[in-house]
Amino acid sequence: MFDTHCHLNFKVFSNNLDQVIKESADYGVRYFMIPGTDEQTSRQAVQISLKYKNAYCSVGLHPHHIYNLVQKNIGIAEADVIGFITELSEFDSVKAIGEIGFDKHLYKKTKYQDYKVTEKFLVYQKVLFERQLRLSLQLSKSLIIHCREAEEDLLEALASLWDKKLEKQIVFHCCPASKDLLDFAIEHRVFIGVDGDVTYDPRKQAFIKKVPLDLLVIETDSPFITPEPVRSQVRFPNTPANLIHIAKICAYLKDIKLEKLIEITTENGLTLFNIN
Ligand SMILES: [Zn+2]
Ligand SMILES: [Zn+2]
Repeated sequence: MFDTHCHLNFKVFSNNLDQVIKESADYGVRYFMIPGTDEQTSRQAVQISLKYKNAYCSVGLHPHHIYNLVQKNIGIAEADVIGFITELSEFDSVKAIGEIGFDKHLYKKTKYQDYKVTEKFLVYQKVLFERQLRLSLQLSKSLIIHCREAEEDLLEALASLWDKKLEKQIVFHCCPASKDLLDFAIEHRVFIGVDGDVTYDPRKQAFIKKVPLDLLVIETDSPFITPEPVRSQVRFPNTPANLIHIAKICAYLKDIKLEKLIEITTENGLTLFNIN
């Protein structure tokens, strides 16, 4: 299997990464994509991708972390994402820019004080999304897109910047059950990432039934979104070892054999991130 989105670069894994990766391999995870969310976690993701076999990573600035720039009053022109992304993109294990995107969710638990989704913050999200998308085209890297409660903003930005080179090079990771996103994905050949919530959320289950198999990839979003049946016992942290539960329910929903589902989604992950 290919866990196309697992934050093994987050602090919770810093003391037991060897064990987490070994256990995940025992449960059939062969490839890992570790997404960066800001400069620090991007650098950490690169380090891990250099150390472990079949571990790949993305580098970029997540919309949630763009808040840092807003709060520090850093002007949008000076907000430097191009520097660290370009530098880290030199590594062959860096397969994508991400995660980037739009997020209007009002997070309650966050490291930022007085987190608010202001007009200014939304402008920063849009400008930095566009800047990072253009960079992915320049550097020939894929794109990991995060979207929460902001489907319209995302689709508007994507439509205005669309380039045929982006076909099969983007994933809507942890894709919300949105008809508009799915329609766009089908028309433009964008992959849809499905997570552990598909094991307990009927809306996600109905949504995944509609996603074409040739656009489906599976991901744990570790350490978050632990799937059932594990979730009832241990909620945090989720690990890639739990990917099998997502594969199983997807096979059931798509009415195909588990081995087939695994074969197709693994192949899709390799295509998405240009791994051969
Ligand atoms: Zn995300
Ligand atoms: Zn993520």
